[in-house]
Amino acid sequence: MKGATTGGIRISDVIAHPLTQKLPRPTVTSWGSYEEVSMVLVEVRTDAGIVGIGETLGRFAPRAYARLIETALKPRLVGQPAASIGTHWAGMRRALSGRAGGMLLEAMSGVDIAPWDILGKTAGLPVATLLGGMNRTEIDVYAAAVNWGPLPEMEAELAALIAQGFPLIKVKMARPVDEAIRRIEAMRRKAGDGIALCVDANWAYELDEAIEVGHALAANGYTWFEEPLAPEIEQGYEELRRRCAVPLAAGESNFTVDQAKRLVTSRTLSVLQPDVARAGGITETRRMADFAGAFDVAYAPHIGMSGIVCETASVHLSAAMPNFRVMECEGDRSPFKTEIADLAPGCLRQRGGKLDVPAGPGLGLMIDWDAVARLRSPE
Ligand SMILES: [Mg+2]
Repeated sequence: MKGATTGGIRISDVIAHPLTQKLPRPTVTSWGSYEEVSMVLVEVRTDAGIVGIGETLGRFAPRAYARLIETALKPRLVGQPAASIGTHWAGMRRALSGRAGGMLLEAMSGVDIAPWDILGKTAGLPVATLLGGMNRTEIDVYAAAVNWGPLPEMEAELAALIAQGFPLIKVKMARPVDEAIRRIEAMRRKAGDGIALCVDANWAYELDEAIEVGHALAANGYTWFEEPLAPEIEQGYEELRRRCAVPLAAGESNFTVDQAKRLVTSRTLSVLQPDVARAGGITETRRMADFAGAFDVAYAPHIGMSGIVCETASVHLSAAMPNFRVMECEGDRSPFKTEIADLAPGCLRQRGGKLDVPAGPGLGLMIDWDAVARLRSPE
């Protein structure tokens, strides 16, 4: 639809599609085991016939997210110019009178991604170019993840990810601490010196435990220690940073730039990991990445358990942001990545830890609406 007049196109409808998939194998973190997961695909239609796509992180109760989108957000967008993305964001934010966060921000995130897709399709440009320039045509990705479990299984999973060509691999960590340290050392031995490793604890620890694990990670040359503590324990993160040499990473649990402020300005975090389908869409994630860049903190998108739209939006942000470090890339071939769009998932497209950025207009995705119908969440 290149050549259409961007300013004249108006949003005519916002449709939320709640989707549920069974995972090819359970994802096991310190929180437990996930056997199925949900999301919401957001479709924003315009009076010019151009359709934009977004994705909302809604792992559970996807129908509740869809209802939130269609009742609280849609009325604020229908009839508005599609290109007024910042205005849409501010208008949707006003649907929640309290502090930013929770389901509403996740719902907004999916709705915010779609007009970027529309704008790109209208202009005939990739979203990365709209975000300030295609600064790289391929991006670095890392493998996520080796699941927490019995050591032989973890070693087998690590070997499989090494065989896929990833130079940086994430390992899930949990309690107890002595078992964690045993795995940290064993994974390093198995990987050798040529493969970089990082760890994700998904808030498994209290501060004293995290300090102990952090020392083991530093001693074994790990690249980062992700979410060692609950995201609210900001002074704990600061103390951990003072006491351990291992770089800290977090951000997937944060909403908006405001929730990243303290740990970025103090440079407690070395790596900020917002999820575009949770933190506030492309609009807010770009703000967060820019903000991190101003304090010499790297941007590394989180896409865990997401679909192909979240992944692809993150690829465009990665291509554009100057402080981009590396993007998460899931090894599993879940239906949310393999079935709902024509673009193969990152784990299939990556070669030696590099992933091409889609060069077509918008996000560069063609949705398979039959697959969307097939994956629709049960009543
Ligand atoms: Mg994580």
